[in-house]
Amino acid sequence: MPVLVMKFGGTSVATLDRIKRAAKRVGLEVAKGYDVIVIVSAMSGKTNELVGWVNETSPLYDAREYDAVVSSGENVTAGLMALTLQEMGVPARSWQGWQVPVKTTDAHSAARIEEIPPENITEKFGEGMKVAVVAGFQGVSPEGRITTLGRGGSDTTAVAFAAAFDAERCDIYTDVDGVYTTDPRISPKARKLDKISFEEMLELASLGAKVLQTRSVELAMRYKVKLRVLSSFEEPSDEAGTLVCDEEETMENRPVSGIAYSRDEAKMTLISVADRPGIAAAIFGPLSEAGVNVDMIIQNIADEGRTDMTFSCPTDQVMRATKALQEAHDSGEINFRDLVADTDVCKISAVGIGMRSQSGVAATMFKTLSDEGINIKVIATSEIKISVLIDRKYLELAVQSLHDAFELETAG
Ligand code: ADP
Ligand code: ASP
Ligand code: MG
Repeated sequence: MPVLVMKFGGTSVATLDRIKRAAKRVGLEVAKGYDVIVIVSAMSGKTNELVGWVNETSPLYDAREYDAVVSSGENVTAGLMALTLQEMGVPARSWQGWQVPVKTTDAHSAARIEEIPPENITEKFGEGMKVAVVAGFQGVSPEGRITTLGRGGSDTTAVAFAAAFDAERCDIYTDVDGVYTTDPRISPKARKLDKISFEEMLELASLGAKVLQTRSVELAMRYKVKLRVLSSFEEPSDEAGTLVCDEEETMENRPVSGIAYSRDEAKMTLISVADRPGIAAAIFGPLSEAGVNVDMIIQNIADEGRTDMTFSCPTDQVMRATKALQEAHDSGEINFRDLVADTDVCKISAVGIGMRSQSGVAATMFKTLSDEGINIKVIATSEIKISVLIDRKYLELAVQSLHDAFELETAG
């Protein structure tokens, strides 16, 4: 039997009624003759609540226990989905990550899937089971501890199952009807894309467009998974949603295809560090060991042998970063006069494969922000993206004015 992977995000399983609705969709695919692997997220808001409980209990928590707590939301929805399907007369059972097993690295709270042996589930399909409901977002480490795959990780579970079972398609059901030129909740002018290239989706995701987890796009690209994003609230149709596919298959030929933002950025500056060979290694080594995801970096011009070093990282890692740098300072590895954290910033990015061949994107971006009176704090570029760090209060204004400036509301 051909296998289909269907993933339902938090809002699509937020209540028992919605689980029923999702289960009906699964039933339709079973009726078409598919063996279906359903990947479920926790009910919306549940994972945030669990993360909150962990932080309240232990601010610099043991990541293994964080995973034990935070993975539990998916267990509930997996069981409820299996029960709902059984009530409909569809042979189904639930699987937690460790039962499959979804084998991951031991990088707790940000583990990577290494292998999904298909035998256990395939055997059950052979015995007449029609739907395997798998708890997304979780796996098991080589030591046998429960791991999680980073926020939004159920998308990655879905794509990894599609690759492991050579699925005909991987459908990601969410609360919007596809991938848009920017977050439709921020810009009413956002336009739905029928197709988007893996490369652009990868950049948009890694720059904050949480509609797909970055790693899921990476995996889909590597294993050639047919990946579709669609709404669980609209009538089923074959043309629905957005197809994430190879570059050649996309139609758009404009310099910028989308605007992404990341709200939870922090800018940290080490004031007056010695400008000597090895200083960057001495700063960023301890940060990496502490698990801080450093993104943008700028080193100012040195004055009398001393310089300022600025970097950005997620807001919730500021405490870890401060601790790591203070310890490096106290042990004499680095020496700075002050450490300043600005937690009121956000990152706005313009993404497009057209940037490879069309110039002027940076100029348009900077002029647009300047016309709105928005000060740029840090800039970073790559072949197909330009990102800026700005004050968080300007997030909506910046996204909307850039969406206008790059004329993204008009059809391609
Ligand atoms: P789920 O719980 O189904 O995984 P998420 O909240 O993780 O859903 O992702 C869907 C959300 O992603 C949408 O509600 C939307 O606000 C946001 N989003 C951000 N950027 C985009 C974009 N470019 N296109 C579509 N949605 C986007
Ligand atoms: N429930 C997890 C989260 O909120 C995983 C997911 O929804 O993809 O991050
Ligand atoms: Mg998600």
